[in-house]
Amino acid sequence: MSRDISLLHPELRDICREFVSACKAKGLEVGISQTRRTKAEQDALYAQGRTTPGSIVTNAKYPLSPHNWGLAFDIYRNDGKGAYNDADGWFSRCGEVGKSLGLFWGGDFKSFRDKPHFELKKYLPANSVSALIQRYDRPENFIQTWEEVMTQKEFDAMMENYLARRRELAASGWAVTELDEAKRLGITDAEAPQAFATRQEVAAMVARAIK
Ligand SMILES: [Zn+2]
Repeated sequence: MSRDISLLHPELRDICREFVSACKAKGLEVGISQTRRTKAEQDALYAQGRTTPGSIVTNAKYPLSPHNWGLAFDIYRNDGKGAYNDADGWFSRCGEVGKSLGLFWGGDFKSFRDKPHFELKKYLPANSVSALIQRYDRPENFIQTWEEVMTQKEFDAMMENYLARRRELAASGWAVTELDEAKRLGITDAEAPQAFATRQEVAAMVARAIK
């Protein structure tokens, strides 16, 4: 698992470094435990608790995690008081710092709260990699473009395609918001699963997955 900040999307590298120093200024000693995750790493992580020993730590299959796209990082507590000790609200304080820098904080997920997790919101509408999958298919194709700067026009076109697809799905009765949640929770990796179409059905599956 890589904790190398330089593996992140260029726009997230600077914010990540800024985040670590802004936390430090508030007396919060942050360590980075995870940045970009390769397919092999995601596969191994997904297998954990399912076909390999350990407990389940992710519901996302490759490439559904923002980590696969270099758009997320995870932190740990590095002040010697326990890497995940949150008894004094340490992670929430870091969450506030991250949010002040425009990041999405995993502690704000409605289900499966993930307090060590931060994301660059820009490319992840509704915390979903759908827009990226539509535009780039695989993370490798996205990563290849990092050296060139995406123009505002290209970015707008990508988001317009994403929104058009959602409108299409919504018009044919798909519960698009619940579908994003279902994808994040690993219930489905289908764009529009034929097996469950209604809002109630998807919401029920999400509720079951959380339990
Ligand atoms: Zn994470």
